[in-house]
Amino acid sequence: MESYSYKNGALYAEQVPLSTLAARHGTPAFVYSRAAIEANWRAYAQAFAGRDALICYAVKANSNLAILNLMARLGSGFDIVSVGELERVLRAGGAADKVVFSGVGKHAHEIRRALEVGIKCFNVESEPELLRINEIAAQLSVTAPVSIRVNPDTDAHTHPFISTGRKEDKFGISHGQVLAAYRLAERLECVVPVGIDCHIGSQVTSLEPYIDALEKLLTLAEDLERHGIPIGHVDIGGGLGIDYHCGNLIRAGAPRSQAGSGDDTATVPDVTAFAEVLRDRVPARYHLMLEPGRSIVGNAGVLLTRVEYLKTTHTRHFAIVDASMNDLLRPSLYQAWHDIIPVTARADEREMDYDVVGPVCETGDFLGLQRPLALRPDDLLAVLSAGAYGFCMSSNYNSRPRAVELLVDDACAHVIRERETPEQLMAGEYMPEFADAMGNL
Ligand SMILES: *Cc1c(COP(=O)(O)O)cnc(C)c1O
Repeated sequence: MESYSYKNGALYAEQVPLSTLAARHGTPAFVYSRAAIEANWRAYAQAFAGRDALICYAVKANSNLAILNLMARLGSGFDIVSVGELERVLRAGGAADKVVFSGVGKHAHEIRRALEVGIKCFNVESEPELLRINEIAAQLSVTAPVSIRVNPDTDAHTHPFISTGRKEDKFGISHGQVLAAYRLAERLECVVPVGIDCHIGSQVTSLEPYIDALEKLLTLAEDLERHGIPIGHVDIGGGLGIDYHCGNLIRAGAPRSQAGSGDDTATVPDVTAFAEVLRDRVPARYHLMLEPGRSIVGNAGVLLTRVEYLKTTHTRHFAIVDASMNDLLRPSLYQAWHDIIPVTARADEREMDYDVVGPVCETGDFLGLQRPLALRPDDLLAVLSAGAYGFCMSSNYNSRPRAVELLVDDACAHVIRERETPEQLMAGEYMPEFADAMGNL
């Protein structure tokens, strides 16, 4: 979060005051720092320097074209979960042959399109999917590169909704059935096994689950070789967690690396330590792949929102803001924590514990509960760590237009997606002309 800092009591994104962005573009607004995104991607690249490795940015974390274009310029690969994401990657200038396609429910038309553009690999999650890919590849007279997504039965110790590598989860092929799946792939004419992969979950905050999953993957890869099925690449998936508690560091004006980290921050492994685990364990004959999403964009973005009303009841102080669960769903969906900090510091005022809530008609519509803040109506707040699974999970619930997205590059701010209009909200909807004319009831 070094890209976000206070200067004379005002919160900046790089060289741009957030209050200027709010005045110019309105709120709620998602703001991203180009420098932060690029630094996060480069941290991965540097950690794997000298090693044959491909970083495939997980598009679903933030799929704005401008963000994908930043990745494409850096030479990134991409991990996609739908043909919509594939079209975005291609539009943004990404290379098709650096795309891996994950997901349990790939539709036939999605597989066809991915084969037509020549993606790097299908991460296959079931035997029926393998058969479908083979059939479509045969129709197109091509060979489909495939990898089996192994469900390693590893508990990533994250929220159950974003845990994906336990045996009861819907993802991947269970450990005991992997060999049979590769044998099937070998027998099929139009698929060729090129790798092995897994993805154990998201917001993983320790390295042990990765070590556990990796050992299982490598043992399987050796088994496969013994059975005459050599594997070219090992893809460990994404999921490295981020520090959702960096508000104090920004308020203290300390660079992240030097600030004393609290209990929560201490448990988030850095990219270098993560890379070391992979470099130490995966033999050099394997091409290494990984699919980070959140750890590249999460802390590079904030959600900028304005206080509409302050309301005090018998038991609570509410700060009713103009952003809500339709903009940032994570607090409502996962009880996720996002630090919320003032855009203009009010040093001399008394803080009170506020529930920061949105206008949506749901009690579950909150951005943060019991947050010590000194507030007045019209104040601006920054909801931190909103760059990943923020805008891309947003909806039009309550017919609220989705927020504007801004990309800050040093002293410039670019609109990378306009705020939706009421007209756009209703586009594509029709009122049928019924035979029983109105008024004839
Ligand atoms: C979501 C996802 C990722 C990215 O996870 P992050 O937690 O954002 O790093 C990577 N691979 C697959 C298959 C995914 O579904």
